[in-house]
Amino acid sequence: MRNRLVVGNWKMHGTVASAESLLSGLVSGLEDTAAAAQYAVCPPFVHLPLALQMAAGSDLQVGAQDCSEHEGGAYTGEVAGPMLADLGCRYVILGHSERRQFFGDSDERVAAKSVAARAAGLLPILCVGETLAEREQGIATQVVQRQLQAIAAAGLQVTDVIAYEPVWAIGTGQTATPAQAQEMHAYIRDFLSSQDAGLADSIRLLYGGSVKAANAAELFAQEDIDGGLVGGAALDAQEFIAIIEAG
Ligand code: PEP
Repeated sequence: MRNRLVVGNWKMHGTVASAESLLSGLVSGLEDTAAAAQYAVCPPFVHLPLALQMAAGSDLQVGAQDCSEHEGGAYTGEVAGPMLADLGCRYVILGHSERRQFFGDSDERVAAKSVAARAAGLLPILCVGETLAEREQGIATQVVQRQLQAIAAAGLQVTDVIAYEPVWAIGTGQTATPAQAQEMHAYIRDFLSSQDAGLADSIRLLYGGSVKAANAAELFAQEDIDGGLVGGAALDAQEFIAIIEAG
């Protein structure tokens, strides 16, 4: 039985004041919720200590949006997995399409980061997904398979999380239909079965791409969707809580 999980990716948004206000709205709003899903937020690095401090004693978990493939050393501007674990982070998002597109996170680099994250005791949330051009060319599953193979070659674990995020649905308001999302999630689950039945039963598969309170319940009701990775809608406490409650 897989626990539902809803994760908010704040991307590069927020000031100390806005982060404090969002966290305060989440922690107090979630106190009274009967949500069955687990939930987490992934703020920018600079807001992690604040998030960890404000989430302490609540069920809100905290993760980072990326980590280095290196354990530490002379890598200016990078943040290592052990640093995040030392702060108290539980999750780390790896291979988000914005990192793949703008920061050179190749399949191999994402795989190396996943190894480093696990070694530090973090739970990786591994993102895969095709671009619009790739979907239109009919190669969406091949792209996702290539991304999964690289991650699997580095050693998937039952505690990992995989997020299917079609790039054309991220931040566009154009959500994949529940049927489109389920089709790819079932494909990912089959891929995991081909590696190891235990992985397929345990790894949580999140859908990401313009998830909102209005479409979350229908997406999360699909057989192979175990929750969501949420960008824009995670910046509004009431909206994010409603998505968690749909989980
Ligand atoms: C994301 O950034 O992972 C994401 C899914 O963004 P949005 O929900 O805004 O599409």
